[in-house]
Amino acid sequence: MTRSTIRCFIASTLVTLGSAATVTAAAEDGDLIREAMNEAPIAERVFNEHITVLSSPWMEGRLPGTKGMEYARDYVIYWFDQAGLEPGWVDPATGERSWKQPFPLGSENIFTDQVASVSGAGEDLELELGEEFELTGLGGDGVVEGEMVFVGYSIDDGPDDYQSFPEDLDLEGRIAVMLRFEPMNEEGGSQWTERARRWSRKSTFASKFGAVADRNPAAVILINTPGADDDRVGTLMKNTSQVIDDVPVVMLTPEAGRRLIAATDTEGRSIDDLRRMADEGTTIVDLKGTARVGGRVEKKTQYAENVLGLLPGKGDLADEVVIIGGHLDHLGMGDFGSRRGSGNLHPGADDNASGAAALMMLGESLRKAYDELPEGASARSVLLAAFDAEESGLNGSRYYVDNPTFDLDDIQLMINFDMIGRVTNDRLSVSGVDSANGMSEWVQPMFDASGLEVVTNSRGGGGSDHASFLRRGIPVLFAICADFHDDYHTPDDTPDKIYRTAGVKTVDLFHEIALGASTRSDKFEFANEETGASRRQGPARPRALKVRLGLRTRELPDGAGLRVMNVTEDSTADVAGIQVDDVIKKWAKIPLKSRADLVGRLAELDPGDEVQVVIERDGEEQVMFLKMKAAP
Ligand SMILES: [Zn+2]
Repeated sequence: MTRSTIRCFIASTLVTLGSAATVTAAAEDGDLIREAMNEAPIAERVFNEHITVLSSPWMEGRLPGTKGMEYARDYVIYWFDQAGLEPGWVDPATGERSWKQPFPLGSENIFTDQVASVSGAGEDLELELGEEFELTGLGGDGVVEGEMVFVGYSIDDGPDDYQSFPEDLDLEGRIAVMLRFEPMNEEGGSQWTERARRWSRKSTFASKFGAVADRNPAAVILINTPGADDDRVGTLMKNTSQVIDDVPVVMLTPEAGRRLIAATDTEGRSIDDLRRMADEGTTIVDLKGTARVGGRVEKKTQYAENVLGLLPGKGDLADEVVIIGGHLDHLGMGDFGSRRGSGNLHPGADDNASGAAALMMLGESLRKAYDELPEGASARSVLLAAFDAEESGLNGSRYYVDNPTFDLDDIQLMINFDMIGRVTNDRLSVSGVDSANGMSEWVQPMFDASGLEVVTNSRGGGGSDHASFLRRGIPVLFAICADFHDDYHTPDDTPDKIYRTAGVKTVDLFHEIALGASTRSDKFEFANEETGASRRQGPARPRALKVRLGLRTRELPDGAGLRVMNVTEDSTADVAGIQVDDVIKKWAKIPLKSRADLVGRLAELDPGDEVQVVIERDGEEQVMFLKMKAAP
């Protein structure tokens, strides 16, 4: 993207400001465009421009790790700088100030030189990467050449004495060819399970690869079993957790598996023939020819960066701070967290280019307000934080509270914006008004004067960056549209749907709140759940849950999540597709560590609320959306 194309693009976005009606009218009379543009308030133009730029295709859906996300950060830094803010991060090692606070974001497998081919079986096979096979993270690194042995489903000690392997089978130096899942019936379902559990625990990668590892293979070819009644056979996996050491594992599509067996079975049988034999029991078949499979797998640590801009305080209060945050990242092409699946740009205009726009506007308006404070006035510092990697688990804000630039005790208030671009009918939700003693009374007059209908929520519910601060005992106010929309986490969250007037009213309201919080002499005192609730409602009592999930779970050791033991039919969890043996890892983007933790989160919810959860099924993380049903 050249400098001049950026300039043209930014100018052209201004045209989208007029309403459709205005533009139609303008077509009849050229002067109307001029009038419409002249009448559009500057603040609305600015709000519009920030959102349109950040949700443009050049920003690639602002996925951490992409060039587009770098552009988005640089855009925010430019405007922080223009506003006269200072770089807000101080590197503890060098003492240097910078705009970006980098943090590690897990590691990713980088695959190269992948190969899957067969020679010496008559017809040579060269399978096509991405179309027919993938090298997976299930195994290790390296390219292996060897003879192939079909091992059926690779199951030890199944029900009814089912056993894939004969005694003393040793696969040393050879490549195991394995079917995914477990013995199937005519419909392609499991022979061993009832409805609630699609496959038994014998079908998991951990179990199957454990069984084959005992026979010491040099590599594994895993075939997505043709005919299995499971959507996952249609997708090749790459990034998975490792289940077998030192052995490369390639996954084949059902069609590639069909070609492989057709070319290599010595008796000319098809993969369906071998599968039916494996459905019955032990089926070990030596295949023709030599396979060459594997590639290089390299673990690469990924980094993300929060953008921090500082408005330094004045006088006695300068060591304290009001933090204003909003996440800058989104879902990229929807590989993670999309409600529609991957492959299309997720512009994230409302989620959360709108909140980032608010940060840039508040940086400027607050700096101006600070310049106009009377001589000798005291004001807290204001830190504007465009958090990174929120969508994958509040990673940026969690890193910040672990590595803060102000003492956590000195944080007066944390304000968070997430989806303020579509405040329809001027209805804005603000959560956390009771997270500090007396805050709701203090803030209400500002709500009343805002021209918005502010729907308040006493606690700071909702899975966004303020949750990281609330958990550390810091008062929060969280702003989000009161009436949720269906474009959330889809490619349809586009800039043309933004309500600029209500967005700007929201920004103006929080200018007042931030300035009030930064200049009031008293520090807010955090109100924890017990004191907050008990002062008004008498003695603390367990709250009845308004929603029901329909799950029985068991805690995994070391806070690794909750394993699903049972799913009630037609419950919230069942409708969302949660299955027995799934592990719930994250709830509303925060790691879920205990059952008590889950009950606490459920207590914050109303029927109809939607919650994003991350589950692990067969070594692969999946995002699901729960629409909470009412408790009976
Ligand atoms: Zn968001």
